[in-house]
Amino acid sequence: MSNTTMMTSSAGLNFQLLRCHRRKRIALQVKNKDIIVKAPYAVPLQYIENLVVLKKQWIENIQSKQQLATRYQNQLARHGQVWFFGKLTPLIVNEGKRSLVTVGKHDIVVTLSARKTLSDTTESMRVKKLLEGWFKQQAEVFLTDKMACFSRQTNLLPNNLYIRQYKARWGCCDNRGHIKLNYLLMMLPESVIDYVIIHELCHLKFLNHSADFWNLVESFLPDYKMEKRWLKEHQHYLTWTTD
Ligand SMILES: [Zn+2]
Repeated sequence: MSNTTMMTSSAGLNFQLLRCHRRKRIALQVKNKDIIVKAPYAVPLQYIENLVVLKKQWIENIQSKQQLATRYQNQLARHGQVWFFGKLTPLIVNEGKRSLVTVGKHDIVVTLSARKTLSDTTESMRVKKLLEGWFKQQAEVFLTDKMACFSRQTNLLPNNLYIRQYKARWGCCDNRGHIKLNYLLMMLPESVIDYVIIHELCHLKFLNHSADFWNLVESFLPDYKMEKRWLKEHQHYLTWTTD
């Protein structure tokens, strides 16, 4: 048993109060503009209001982080945006005879086949599927070419190259000399893609992150720390998101 009431704290923050019999502790959740407090019936209202006021700064910090995330995330919608070579590129979605993706000077156009039955697939899911396929094709050509180019330059040659989707990594190298790259690398600036490829190639010599390893990376890419930083600062935006 539970019930929800809209409340306003003395600091002017609106929040939803969800009273719940089985709940033992108070929980505070922030989902963009919505602030939700889940509390047992026994906790006095004044206590909850004070808590929200006390947590005002914390709530606002989360809200601004969430706003920033929305601004910099891929948005697979009619007038959305998608990361491509390190730029948030405007995304145009329209309908045509057949599904295809075309890249313009300033935007990426996703054309959805009007003939296809929609069933229960949302438009953003169809956009995602098309873009995924297109990114994979682009990655196959671009990353294979880059790898060959850096292999020649560094004299480090992998035994095999795989281009796939990985949830939590941009690339990896194993002790058989197989290098795997994430096709989502196509969302990164070219200089950062170079860094990831050189990083993996250097693992062919040192299968660790020792000082020798980083020295080798630096010998090929003196500014590698800058690229590493870009990756760290942006990587949480570089995923597909649909509603
Ligand atoms: Zn590594």
